[in-house]
Amino acid sequence: MRRKILAMLLTVVMLMGLMVPAFAAEEGSNLTGKTVILHTNDVHGNIKEYAKVAALRQEFEDRGAGVVLVDAGDFCQGSVYVSVSKGADAITMMNAAGYDLATLGNHEFDYGSEQLWNNLKNARFPVICANVMNDAGELYCPATIVGELTSGRKIGFVGLDTPEAQTKANPALLKGVNFLAEEKMFEATRKCVNELRDPQKGGCDLVIALAHLGVDSSSEPNRSYDLLKNVEGIDFVIDGHSHTVMEQGVNGEPIQSSGAHLENVGVIVIDDATAKIEDHYLVPIWHKENKKVVYDYTKEDPDVAAVAQKIMDRIDAEYGKVFAKTEVDLNGERDPGNRTEETNLGDLITDSMMWAIQKNEGSLKVDKDHVVALTNGGGIRASVAAGDITKTDVNTVLPFGNTVAVVYVTGNELLEALEASTQDTPKSIGAFPQVSGIDFSIDTTKAYDKTAETYPGSTYHGPNTIQRVKINSINGAPFHPEDTYAVITNNFVAAGGDTYYAFAAAKEQFDTGLPLDEVLMEYITEQLKGVVGKEYEKPQGRIHVVTEATPNPSQPDETVPDSSEAPTTEPETTEPETKPTQPETKPTQPQKPNSDNPKTGDSGVMIPVVICTLALCAFAVVYKKEGKQI
Ligand SMILES: [Zn+2]
Repeated sequence: MRRKILAMLLTVVMLMGLMVPAFAAEEGSNLTGKTVILHTNDVHGNIKEYAKVAALRQEFEDRGAGVVLVDAGDFCQGSVYVSVSKGADAITMMNAAGYDLATLGNHEFDYGSEQLWNNLKNARFPVICANVMNDAGELYCPATIVGELTSGRKIGFVGLDTPEAQTKANPALLKGVNFLAEEKMFEATRKCVNELRDPQKGGCDLVIALAHLGVDSSSEPNRSYDLLKNVEGIDFVIDGHSHTVMEQGVNGEPIQSSGAHLENVGVIVIDDATAKIEDHYLVPIWHKENKKVVYDYTKEDPDVAAVAQKIMDRIDAEYGKVFAKTEVDLNGERDPGNRTEETNLGDLITDSMMWAIQKNEGSLKVDKDHVVALTNGGGIRASVAAGDITKTDVNTVLPFGNTVAVVYVTGNELLEALEASTQDTPKSIGAFPQVSGIDFSIDTTKAYDKTAETYPGSTYHGPNTIQRVKINSINGAPFHPEDTYAVITNNFVAAGGDTYYAFAAAKEQFDTGLPLDEVLMEYITEQLKGVVGKEYEKPQGRIHVVTEATPNPSQPDETVPDSSEAPTTEPETTEPETKPTQPETKPTQPQKPNSDNPKTGDSGVMIPVVICTLALCAFAVVYKKEGKQI
């Protein structure tokens, strides 16, 4: 609002004949006596753009402001440029760009907690998080930090990570790491806010939550909205996780979030004398037009750009080689896309999983017609345009380093897994199953019959009864709830990631150790002879999402197929047509690699300190850490 008024005033001034271009004048206004918080979130490995963040910081400093650069999480994962080093190069980039503070996102845990704590040892900035604990109830990071303005007034930050991390990173790599959720998270935050506000302790005039919580309905009751409703004394929330571009909440809540991949940088202007927020807005860095990136902001810090280029050159040398091609665009979108409906890329990936296991006779103990494949839509992270395919492309689609696992389940357990993983459908949900060998329908006109309690160690509720999902056939044959099926999946899902507790609880499973990205590459080179052809142009018609608006004519009748009856019909082939009723920016989903299980609860990295200090002044930012930083 203030910017608009300022722009209007300047326009009037120009009309009166003063030769001051409005834009330049506004950009150049003096900010002496102000502190500017620049904030990013969900950068997800788009490391090239950090040079622009550093240049933007310099611009604000040149205008006289003291600048604090903060990140609200999910910096370790999302592109091959950070995933090859398991997140370490993300820290290298944030050090180069001059970050002053960060909190953790769920994706920080994708490579396991031990890898994360090791990465963070190299961070030249503090990391705060009030709701990540070990089994003894101790914090892994400081919960809060206090910064001092030139006036002597103080700002307090409290860090929070979405408790969805518990199931959005590979549970097998998170043993001993606990995320406080709902009331426990609010209670911990209240304590922090009270200490920050207490004149004898933090003595803060302004309290900001640096929160990787998001605003998606599927994240309720752990959203930033829920935080503000349940905790008094937070003046402003810098948010992440849901990839939402917002300068305020839907009802005017003081929440700002910059989207993702550095498409924007958030700006908060604080008056040092009063410690009040005077203004806040987003500065656009880039956007897409006709699938091409167009830069809204072009200045770059050359030193930071050089650090990024060195990393990209090293990775491109190995990953940039063309190994195959595709004749069709492969759909890696989220919503509508892999989190809401069947996609051709989901089909291709699950077909490759089927192929990789079935090409070796005798690797499974059930008949071929009882083998299916399933991967979570949230694990599919990018599209591939028709044309050449490089290893980088595949690694960007599947950046988690997941391996292929096999879970033996009963038909009933498979039904439970499908019912739970589509509980938000037609709205976006990261668990949404992309499948091979299964033909199933989801009747979204019926309510999800959720259990009162969440699954153990999860923010998700299982189903009391199967209301919405119906398996029409398995490999073209009737489905039998009592039979045993082999589900070929990824190790994240097998370990109970997202909503897949039914798989973690199943009696028998094993990890093949085959990297999922390599399985996909081999399938394309060996089985498809190096070309993804027209057969993958469209989804194959395996998943039928039924809504009131689009009743599915192919929905079979309600009778359960008779187990004695031989299959007489091909699986239904109607394509899913449903679109989510309301486009939602959906979170992310995590996973992790096939490294050894980390020894968690390592007391050597524990920091029980609750408040440490971030000293801010107009021309320099100096922070001191109490104790060892992570
Ligand atoms: Zn996230």
